[in-house]
Amino acid sequence: MNEQKLSKRLEKVAHFIKPQSRIADIGSDHAYLPCYAVLQGFASFAIAGEIADGPFHSAQDQVEKTGLLAQISVRKGDGLQVLERSDEIDTVVIAGMGGPLIASILENDEEKLAGVSRLILQPNIAANRIREWGVRHQFKIVAEEIVEEDRKIYEILVLERSHVPVNYSEDELFFGPFLLKEKNAAFRSKWQHEQDTWKKITENIEKQGKTSENELKLTELRAQIKRVEDVLK
Ligand code: SAM
Repeated sequence: MNEQKLSKRLEKVAHFIKPQSRIADIGSDHAYLPCYAVLQGFASFAIAGEIADGPFHSAQDQVEKTGLLAQISVRKGDGLQVLERSDEIDTVVIAGMGGPLIASILENDEEKLAGVSRLILQPNIAANRIREWGVRHQFKIVAEEIVEEDRKIYEILVLERSHVPVNYSEDELFFGPFLLKEKNAAFRSKWQHEQDTWKKITENIEKQGKTSENELKLTELRAQIKRVEDVLK
């Protein structure tokens, strides 16, 4: 992978950026995504934000090596704190982290999203936490994609501001409204795998014997297994 050729996962993320956007890639690591986005014309300006020293320096090196110092600003800081109003960022990308961490990055500095119209988020786990954040903050889901790469399955969520309250069913929040409609092979494979894992955990807990804590966990697990069974029917 480099600034010309992204992983399948990051390439899908990049293709959700509208042409000539002003983007912030939070947790940019190697900064391949903003470099690619600028080189392909998806972004006219980008911020590569990083909290950790190593990735921050590797992003700086990458942007310099690619000759994009005029278009990409590499900044060290926590989440959205690296954004300034004068940057006029319209699109925020956060990829390759857990859903709860992505949701907390959005929650912690929500005021930084004032001028932002599009969020492109790729959680590695618990995408439902992002959908729930969206409902609370009047962001609706405008697209979703689920992709398999190197035997791993990734979800990509695209959110835009909504002027009316956003409502989803429990299943839509859990599985994703678009993904639930499509139920493609990657979706089926992901949820089959989750269901198998929960069944194994259930068996182990059952072997441990009855305690009130175990009963509570079993009730939750059985409900999740049933929910997936119903959806995969
Ligand atoms: N976005 C890249 C991708 O999808 O390939 C890199 C993902 S990497 C697994 C996660 C990166 O997010 C790490 O480099 C980490 O240092 C950075 N990170 C984690 N929490 C962060 C935060 N609160 N603010 C900025 N960067 C963060």
